[in-house]
Amino acid sequence: MKLIYGLSVRNRKMYFDLKNRNSFLGAKQLEFRINSIDDDSEMEDTQYWEIISEECKKKEIKISIHMFDSINLGERVNCVREVYLKAIKKLIDLIVGVGGEYIVLHLGMGGFSYESHKKKERLMIVVDSLQMLLSYCPSNIYIAIENMIRIESAYKCYLGDCKEDFLFIFDRIDDPRLKMIFDVGHANIKQLVPPIVFIDQLYNKILAFHLHWNDGNSDQHNILTENWMMEYDQLWKGYIMDKPIIIENNNIIDMHKTIRILTNIIKDTKK
Ligand SMILES: [Zn+2]
Repeated sequence: MKLIYGLSVRNRKMYFDLKNRNSFLGAKQLEFRINSIDDDSEMEDTQYWEIISEECKKKEIKISIHMFDSINLGERVNCVREVYLKAIKKLIDLIVGVGGEYIVLHLGMGGFSYESHKKKERLMIVVDSLQMLLSYCPSNIYIAIENMIRIESAYKCYLGDCKEDFLFIFDRIDDPRLKMIFDVGHANIKQLVPPIVFIDQLYNKILAFHLHWNDGNSDQHNILTENWMMEYDQLWKGYIMDKPIIIENNNIIDMHKTIRILTNIIKDTKK
């Protein structure tokens, strides 16, 4: 079988490097990152998106867009949350305009430990935010929410750092347009359950996987290794390889290495 993969495009420079020198390393999907919501945001660069839309149509490459990391869907100051929601609606308009398929959102952060009772209150705000976005979102576009790393701190945590957060949300929102991105690297950092438990319970909600690796302590976005593949053999064969994968390394060289490793593994996989 043949490996089909997408790449995370970190910024404008990386897009043009991939386009000019490497013809996108053979990727069938590009996931574009938005690095701010200010005036200099990629979102405002109409020319950039015209080039992308035309090129991807020509090469039959699918498009998804990853929203700015610092957006907080659980923001409790309403006028601030409005700014975030407005920016995401703009992103929905953009993904429609470029003929893309989905947007990726992080849920946001809270200023308390992951064990705090306040997390549930913030998740309720997240649910409200997502409902508002879904009421704006057309039927052919998905909103995909991503799992985050767990931080051992009394002062902060990510919303969406455990499977319970996603079960909480999907229990309250039953909408085929709401999906999740399972980030394999994030699931390696201080999680309470192995990824397979997490994935098993949410598999039908998973739209795609993000692939990168780390030392278990910080979100390094390293290349996958042969060891990773051995350790994740069951996960790979049973779950990951059946859905779209997006390689999320820091640079083109590392993504190239990850593709080589995956290609070797797939040669030995009979399915
Ligand atoms: Zn990711």
